[in-house]
Amino acid sequence: MTTGQAEPMVKIRSLRKRFGSVEVLKGIDLDVPHGQVVCVVGPSGSGKSTLLRCVNRMETIDSGRIWVDGELMGYAERGGRLHLLAPAELCRQRRPIGMVFQRFHLFPHRTAIENVMEGPVTVLGTSRAEARRQATELLERVGLSDRADHYPAQLSGGQQQRVAIARSLAMRPKLMLFDEPTSALDPELVQEVLAVMRDLAASGMTMMVVTHEMGFAREVGDQLVFVDGGVIVERGDPREVLAAPKNDRFRTFLGQVL
Ligand code: ADP
Ligand code: MG
Repeated sequence: MTTGQAEPMVKIRSLRKRFGSVEVLKGIDLDVPHGQVVCVVGPSGSGKSTLLRCVNRMETIDSGRIWVDGELMGYAERGGRLHLLAPAELCRQRRPIGMVFQRFHLFPHRTAIENVMEGPVTVLGTSRAEARRQATELLERVGLSDRADHYPAQLSGGQQQRVAIARSLAMRPKLMLFDEPTSALDPELVQEVLAVMRDLAASGMTMMVVTHEMGFAREVGDQLVFVDGGVIVERGDPREVLAAPKNDRFRTFLGQVL
């Protein structure tokens, strides 16, 4: 789904990132248009998580540029020169970017609804009454109205991950990053989380999704990107590239995950 804006929601150019002597990302170029879902796949250690973490600046980058909704991440331009942003400014840039991880990281001593209310109350300054109203709506959206007062330990992994998604949405993100959101779940719980993500995509959310769920990529993805060895080796319409993978390493990878 596109909304006709010329500038993509995410624009990545010549992104390079190293850890010590190991270059993990070796020149990534990627556009995610508004309202689109890009699925990122690739072997373990290929740099997928690092790529997502660079987008919301949880990692510093070594070279290249990343824009989110037209804003250059991590830098401010002053007098024709680029300056590193101060931490407070970086927080402001990061705020509209939601991230959901493999592990749910809910606050264990807070109920589901308190987890969802936390960000709006503490970061956005929303009143508790209003935050509760919004959190109630969000829990309904992820199918957990009846679990609002449960603690994380009383919820299944799939329910916890849905609370984590609701908590992210409570911050009103314009971009959602998902890093293998179903990899830690028992197989029977995967679909309930993918269903929430499918609804979110249908609502027009722009999403970058690292996943091994090729069915989801085929159904929901607007673009599929195969990363191997820190470069994008193959990309395109998920239905086309999955039906006829061109790259040998991509074919081998698909043989392992499908
Ligand atoms: P993927 O998500 O595709 O499995 P990652 O992006 O997590 O891959 O990691 C890519 C490579 O970078 C791996 O070799 C990993 O060990 C290394 N790496 C990731 N994070 C760090 C870090 N903070 N310090 C050192 N090496 C790291
Ligand atoms: Mg990873």
